[in-house]
Amino acid sequence: MNKTSRKTDFLKNMKIVLASRNRKKIEELRTLLCEDIPGLEILSLDEAGIEGDIEENGTTFRENALTKARAAAAVGLIGVGDDSGLAVNALDGAPGIFSARYAGGHGDDRANNEKLLRELKGKADRSASFVCAMAAVFPDGREITVEGRVDGVILEEYRGKNGFGYDPLFYYPPFGKTTAEMEPEEKNSISHRGKAVRQLCQELKKLLAEK
Ligand code: IMP
Repeated sequence: MNKTSRKTDFLKNMKIVLASRNRKKIEELRTLLCEDIPGLEILSLDEAGIEGDIEENGTTFRENALTKARAAAAVGLIGVGDDSGLAVNALDGAPGIFSARYAGGHGDDRANNEKLLRELKGKADRSASFVCAMAAVFPDGREITVEGRVDGVILEEYRGKNGFGYDPLFYYPPFGKTTAEMEPEEKNSISHRGKAVRQLCQELKKLLAEK
């Protein structure tokens, strides 16, 4: 098979394997990406028959997203991976790629937020950004990465009940509320993840237009 027909083949059969077993994340991406690209199908790692954990050993969000995307692409479809977290300026970018396990245990949001408040005590600069890197790896070997970012301020107390992770402490000045006080669509419109997904969508559409 020559290179051109291989490319046309995978574009006719737009299946993406998302490097995640998180049902919420998969559903969210299905909604955001599939709305824009008719005929696109998104499979989870389980649906693609990929077992085991993917080791995240990168030093940046982009490296981790690429590692995950490469693992998801191993079955010959388009692999997509993401990695996100909070970067606090006064803490030299921490918790960064360690955001999920900042306080030790993986995904203990309350402990992570309490540690963040302790680390920022007395610091004048409480500016921070949520960052999300997404990578796509194609069957013909091409790789793309995109990054979305949203800037905000870490509050001294919790506000809001929506979202997850650091949302109750992340204040977004243009809306005058934390990301935990936003409805999902509102958060998507300004969030690091929303921006990264929209960029990824543009890149995928460019590839479709090249067909
Ligand atoms: P993941 O890479 O999307 O799994 O995110 C890693 C960690 O970053 C999460 O466990 C959260 O602690 C933090 N994080 C990422 N995105 C968000 C967000 O939108 N709101 C709050 N916390 C987030």
